[in-house]
Amino acid sequence: MLDKVVIANRGEIALRILRACHEIGIKTVAVHSSADSNLKHVLLADESVCIGPAESINSYLDMPKIISAAEVTDAVAIHPGYGFLSENADFAERVESSGFVFIGPPSESIRLMGDKVSAIKLMKQAGVPTVPGSDGALNDDPDENIKIARNIGYPVIIKASGGGGGKGMRVVHAEAALLNAIALTQAESRSAFGNDEVYMEKFLETPRHIEIQVLADGQGNAIHLGERDCSMQRRHQKVIEEAPAPGITEEQRNFVGKRCVDACLEMGYRSAGTFEFLYQDKEFYFIEMNTRLQVEHPVTEMITGIDIVKEQLRIASGEKLKITQDDVQIKGHAIECRMNAEDPKTFMPSPGDIKLWHMPGGPGIRIDSHIYSGYRVPPYYDSMIGKIISFGNNRQSAMTRMENALKEIVVEGIKTNIPLHQEILQHSAFKSGGTNIHYLEKRLGL
Ligand code: ADP
Repeated sequence: MLDKVVIANRGEIALRILRACHEIGIKTVAVHSSADSNLKHVLLADESVCIGPAESINSYLDMPKIISAAEVTDAVAIHPGYGFLSENADFAERVESSGFVFIGPPSESIRLMGDKVSAIKLMKQAGVPTVPGSDGALNDDPDENIKIARNIGYPVIIKASGGGGGKGMRVVHAEAALLNAIALTQAESRSAFGNDEVYMEKFLETPRHIEIQVLADGQGNAIHLGERDCSMQRRHQKVIEEAPAPGITEEQRNFVGKRCVDACLEMGYRSAGTFEFLYQDKEFYFIEMNTRLQVEHPVTEMITGIDIVKEQLRIASGEKLKITQDDVQIKGHAIECRMNAEDPKTFMPSPGDIKLWHMPGGPGIRIDSHIYSGYRVPPYYDSMIGKIISFGNNRQSAMTRMENALKEIVVEGIKTNIPLHQEILQHSAFKSGGTNIHYLEKRLGL
């Protein structure tokens, strides 16, 4: 097993990784910015190293500083968490070439899946269903592109191959706007991602976002842990996630899950990963793969009883996966609400001093949060301050427990989006389940 791990992240996920490490006897090193010396995991870590100022670019995104921290503390591995450097193939490569274990996939997998055109190609080979679209990147032949769009049928979406974070996409409703949209997306993509390769897909109008969690050991073994429904979104940011996805049959889960497993084996994938799909009219359409741990991983942990972070640590230490596909049994239902330090109506960030922090508990309630009374939420980073996860034997029970949990929460000093969660839980559409990705924005009148 790994002896000592550097946690190259902050907030709730750094604490989550620390807990997993300590549970299996791994020592931890917290690397943090000067604004973060009071983070809970920094206080709990075996060692900590301040790697720079508050600005992420000079701390959490500074590769040499993170690698130096691993060197001076005699750590053996680096866990990147999510965000920051977690999907940076150059970072993974530099970690490995400096003699440390990167707790994630091989850099080649990150690079391959970070390029959406090559990712889609690989998915097609593995038999994973993809969105009807162009065969690879578009070239500069206008007649050809018009033909492709006609074949797909409007509306279409032009997407940057190197895109991410919801950027570099443009929906086209009619032929008159097509060529201009392609040129604009290419230009945007060139300046934002340094690569002007774009491709075309059918624009699905009312899809749900359903994703498949996988685990692979890079030694010929891979499994899937079923799906999560993350359709409750605002500006492409997930707000509530749940597992399993309402209405998905075991047959559908096994069909799409098996193909994701095949894709993992095909590319020699290692560690945890997520295949994201749009789901419409009972069909799955692959859109991208996230080659890292995700914010919403706990809902899968609750319904499978599998600790995804501990599995990542075991795999990184060179162990083979001990869990087989038959061992994965989905039981009950889990819902996650992301707590943000923000105004529940205007969504403006609300950093500041937490005067009082009281979290709910009881059967089926899990809180993943780094916040405590007296902590000051700094203004420099993501506004997420934690996650409430409810679990029950069925969806109704998970919803009731979440409703009750939300009522117990007391946070004083900053504004949070708890009132928004309370409101969504009362919506009849949420209660029925299966809303599409536009539901929340429409309902909020955005
Ligand atoms: P990113 O890497 O920027 O997150 P994705 O490919 O995951 O890009 O797409 C982000 C979001 O854009 C999706 O969750 C969905 O809301 C929307 N989207 C992407 N492709 C399509 C499509 N073909 N039809 C409809 N919506 C799409």
